[in-house]
Amino acid sequence: MGYAEVSVNSPVARRQAFSYAIPPGLSIDVGQAVWVPFGDKLLQGIVLELSRYPSVEETREIVGVIEPRPLLSLPRVSLAHWISEHYLSPLFDAVALMLPPGFERKTLTFIRCSSTSHERDVSSLSQGQRQVLELVQKQGEISLKELEKTLGKKKAQTIVSQLVGQGLVVRSYELEKVKVKPKKVPYLHLAVKASEAQQEAVKLREKRAAKQAALLEFLALQSQPVSLTEARQRANCNKAVADALVSKGLAELQQIEVKREPISYRDIVPSYPLTLTSAQKSAFASIKSSLLQVTKGHTSPPIFLLHGVTGSGKTEIYLQILAETVRLGKRGIVLVPEIALTPQTIERFASRFPGKVAVLHSKLSLGEQFDEWQRIRNGEFDVVIGSRSAIFAPQPDLGLIVIDEEHEWTYKQHDKSPRYHTRDVAIKLAELTGAVVILGSATPDVETFFHAQQGKYHLLQLLERVTPSEGSPLPQVEVVDLKQELKAGNRSIFSRSLSQATAKAVANREQVILFLNRRGAATFIQCRSCGFVLRCQRCDVALTHHFTEDMLVCHQCNYRMPVLQTCPRCLSRRIKFLGIGTQKLEQEVSFTFPQARRLRWDSDVTRGKHSHQEILNKFRAHDADILIGTQMVAKGLDLPLVTLVGVISADTGLNLPDFRAGERAFQLLSQVVGRAGRGILGGQAIIQTYSPDHYAIQAAAKQDYVLFYDKEIAYRRQLHNPPFTRLVSLIYSHTNDALCQREAERMKRLLIAERDSKGIADLSLIGPAPAFIHRLRGRFRWQLILRGSELSAFLSQIPIPQGWAIDIDPVGLT
Ligand code: ADP
Ligand code: ZN
Ligand code: ZN
Repeated sequence: MGYAEVSVNSPVARRQAFSYAIPPGLSIDVGQAVWVPFGDKLLQGIVLELSRYPSVEETREIVGVIEPRPLLSLPRVSLAHWISEHYLSPLFDAVALMLPPGFERKTLTFIRCSSTSHERDVSSLSQGQRQVLELVQKQGEISLKELEKTLGKKKAQTIVSQLVGQGLVVRSYELEKVKVKPKKVPYLHLAVKASEAQQEAVKLREKRAAKQAALLEFLALQSQPVSLTEARQRANCNKAVADALVSKGLAELQQIEVKREPISYRDIVPSYPLTLTSAQKSAFASIKSSLLQVTKGHTSPPIFLLHGVTGSGKTEIYLQILAETVRLGKRGIVLVPEIALTPQTIERFASRFPGKVAVLHSKLSLGEQFDEWQRIRNGEFDVVIGSRSAIFAPQPDLGLIVIDEEHEWTYKQHDKSPRYHTRDVAIKLAELTGAVVILGSATPDVETFFHAQQGKYHLLQLLERVTPSEGSPLPQVEVVDLKQELKAGNRSIFSRSLSQATAKAVANREQVILFLNRRGAATFIQCRSCGFVLRCQRCDVALTHHFTEDMLVCHQCNYRMPVLQTCPRCLSRRIKFLGIGTQKLEQEVSFTFPQARRLRWDSDVTRGKHSHQEILNKFRAHDADILIGTQMVAKGLDLPLVTLVGVISADTGLNLPDFRAGERAFQLLSQVVGRAGRGILGGQAIIQTYSPDHYAIQAAAKQDYVLFYDKEIAYRRQLHNPPFTRLVSLIYSHTNDALCQREAERMKRLLIAERDSKGIADLSLIGPAPAFIHRLRGRFRWQLILRGSELSAFLSQIPIPQGWAIDIDPVGLT
């Protein structure tokens, strides 16, 4: 008899797998989904290992197979183990990342007659039992749910258990079917002949209904119905215009069922590889030769850091390396920070690999995601494109993993277990499957660049934009010192420079982006005369203002002090709480530039009915002069009419109580500044700040990554921060603040005792202190930070009660 180690879908299973016996006649494979008894329940499990001996004395038997084909390949089973061990997450949470969407569905129980039930004497059965048995005999199979409906839940279950006990019936289990709801979309077509439509259009124009005329003319040119969305876009009108044509009997609307294809191939023209520039050629040649070596099994798979500014031709390299990968009989996964913000990238892949690109995104219904997952597993695609979770797609024959914009923080899952970093998972998966990894960025993560400098990753650099001659040189950047503005009597949030430049751009019918980093709004205080920001003397992070107690608090060590009335540096009394939201900014813009048309783009707006794409299309169509936005406006947009980018305050990001504040500010500012001057008009950027000499701002203004990196890595070394050590954040949350603090203190004592008893020298503890977000959804949160090298191994030995969230290698503040 064989045994299987199974990861069970139960919260009490935690990081453990359980031994089950494989009953005779059942064929079980690693990676397969099975039903197993667990306590008094029947649960889903995934087989992680087969063995001849059980790991415990008494085992129960696997009840059945959910799906004959294994859901996880061998490398992915190893990956799940690694994730659970490294990130200290429940094993099934790690396994679940790789299961088909909607796997954790309801279980349906069915009842059938046993093979001997016909020969048995049933005279001793109760009337209820006999009734059920007869029903089952008559129908062959019946669902428990159906029985429960007629008999009541309790009674049905009791009778079935009794009949099973007597060997008269048997149970079997199935997952509830995934429901696929068809999606219907309104399509518009002419209700009259094309010639007639043209005549009607002329009449409409005479009646000054130009929009209706335009839509009618557009429809007259179409050979088949077009979706209402497309018609609206192409004829630049709203739905009311279409409705007007319908009510006049000139057009008809029809609901047509569509497949929710993430890419509409209809509009995509196939494209062909470009001739590489010499810089691209040499990067391409290095990666290609590694790819060949790896395929022959000569080397372990390498990791490349492709460092190049936006427009330097990184994506073209991804495309051509993917083509090589496919030629070698392998496939790829390409990760992007946020799928909604990267339609152009997806289109480029789709046009180069027509019909061979899978896109995983959350807009698909569960059923569609499920179908897509199956098709990927069947090897129907050359490449899977998606955001972080696409790393877990069941792409077979993996030969290439690309992480574009590898520095982006969206690659870290921080809000639920497992709190994994996509980059680290990708590197592990590549090691397990023999795939080449390319990390691409204009502003690499400091840790990534450090590894490249150390030779752990291969550094490839593209120093220039592909087409610098056709306009798009890097923009001119001006750093404005807001202290000087105040001295000169300007109290507006716009410096004189920014306000003049904005007015000029709008007058010239050019476009402006105003960027505001909203994170950390109004949480720190600053002297408006000298720009001084109060910092913790021990941790060198900005003290955060807590409204409830009106205190300044260090979020690393819990140092506290009252709010100051005067500046300790210049004795000025002009202490300001800093922070302004996008809404406030929009208001200010409307006062200062009343003639300009405004558009706001932040998560408040996109959460509503406007999608990213709609806002972007509107701005691109020059329906607005000034775009006001947060982080999102910094993403790789190519907007040729934008000649000015204004950063309202570079300081908000800089003063977050986080050692990565400088890095984050540099990345954002570089990206934002890079938005200006993408067209032939050229452009400039203006950064407003109270700290014009800060290295992150200086380096961003010069668009000089290495300048930034050298300073930053020196600080990291000096303050002993990653990559020179590792961190773990432990957050305890509870509705009672005092209790929360006490538990955090208890945990600290426990950890220290454990460390001392094991004699671990390089492990230190910071805190407890209130977490950056001290109160979240009614729960208070206290944080401990551990610093050291072997943290996962250390923590895995310690009993950590419910209520603690462990984040290994945390990024950002939570
Ligand atoms: P990145 O990914 O670094 O932003 P892209 O690959 O998108 O850079 O290239 C920027 C622009 O230059 C794109 O429009 C692309 O089509 C074009 N491009 C890239 N490589 C070449 C090349 N070798 N020859 C001509 N145009 C190129
Ligand atoms: Zn001051
Ligand atoms: Zn401190």
